[in-house]
Amino acid sequence: MKKTPFYIFLLLSAWSWSQTTYLHCGQVFDSEKAKMLGPHTLVIEGEKITEVKKGFIETVEGTTVVDLKTKTVYPGFIDMHVHIEGEYSPDRYLKVFQNNPADTAFEAAEIANRTLMAGFTSVRDLGGSGVNISLRNAIDKGLTSGPRIFTAGKAIGTTGGHADPTNGFRADLQGDPGPKEGVVNSVEDARKAIRQRYKNGADWIKITATGGVLSVAKSGQNPQFTNEELAAITQTARDYGFQVAAHAHGDEGMYRAVANGVKTIEHGTLIEERTMKLMKEKEAYLVATISAGKFVAEQAKKPGAYPAIIVPKAIAIGAQIQRTFGKAYKFGVPIAFGTDAGVYPHGENAKEFIYMNEAGMPVAEALQSATYVNAKILEKEDQLGQIAPGFLADLVATDENALDNINTLTNVTFVMKNGVVYKSE
Ligand SMILES: [Zn+2]
Repeated sequence: MKKTPFYIFLLLSAWSWSQTTYLHCGQVFDSEKAKMLGPHTLVIEGEKITEVKKGFIETVEGTTVVDLKTKTVYPGFIDMHVHIEGEYSPDRYLKVFQNNPADTAFEAAEIANRTLMAGFTSVRDLGGSGVNISLRNAIDKGLTSGPRIFTAGKAIGTTGGHADPTNGFRADLQGDPGPKEGVVNSVEDARKAIRQRYKNGADWIKITATGGVLSVAKSGQNPQFTNEELAAITQTARDYGFQVAAHAHGDEGMYRAVANGVKTIEHGTLIEERTMKLMKEKEAYLVATISAGKFVAEQAKKPGAYPAIIVPKAIAIGAQIQRTFGKAYKFGVPIAFGTDAGVYPHGENAKEFIYMNEAGMPVAEALQSATYVNAKILEKEDQLGQIAPGFLADLVATDENALDNINTLTNVTFVMKNGVVYKSE
């Protein structure tokens, strides 16, 4: 992967803050209407788009022009499910004991840059060690490059549940993690865990409503919270201005989570009709993460890729996710774009567009979900996800029109975030 030297960022950021920039775009994607428009000029001042004009506007003194006349321009993509701190590797279970937080931070910084270069200018990070919060702050301050991060901090589960950080440890190392570490076993614990995340500076709450594939535990799908615990989580979250994302493979845990007011269901593998109906009713979104499902199902066939207890879960659950997505889309379940990057290699996030399309979603709608829809879920619909005056200048471009060739989305050749050019090929 080619890297942009750091001084280029400084140079470009100084340049773009001091001037008005005209972007001459061959085509632009209207994410609100989910359709492609012809040639436009985007006027960028500071970090914002100030004007969107038809055709290529003549430049005036003191303006800079970026020539994207042969390119197709989209609002920066938003991935609703990443784990920005780390990435799958066969030694991932050992790293927990080897990495200091600083090691994790340096790895995370490289991952964040890779994600931005792939055209993802915002991500929702659904769980890590807490380094994710520091990384968000460092990016916001301009200390390192990466997408705008909305992070859940540490995920919340139950003892032995998918988010219990000591699953699979030797007995004397397991201890008894509590709400601070993300393990709750009562209504009181649940409230405390939410308040702790507020104190830590998280943006979202992530819970693991059912078993999961990659935790060292037997079930990949059993419900893991009581209704009372879920109610305590969503009510406390509301008091503190959080929305809740729920990891779920099995239907019972998923149904309980939606009934108690979570905003997004992650994976949704074994979703049944009652839950799809409820999601439509309550405007809860499915974040399918087909990319992760496909990757783990493929990896599980390789000996030694995962601990033995994980292999059957990866094979049974991973392969089903794309089918589930197709079923939910057809049923009319609200769909958000999210990939679970980190479970598969970061930077390949755009493959999800292809998988969504294969399962029956038109390309324009998949693009809309990764921009307009995701901005709405993040409650940033007046700042992100659209190419319109007043919006932040988060823009990406491809050499071809994605509506003609979806594969072009995996090769983003121009990236601007907050009015600063990070990639221009
Ligand atoms: Zn995940």
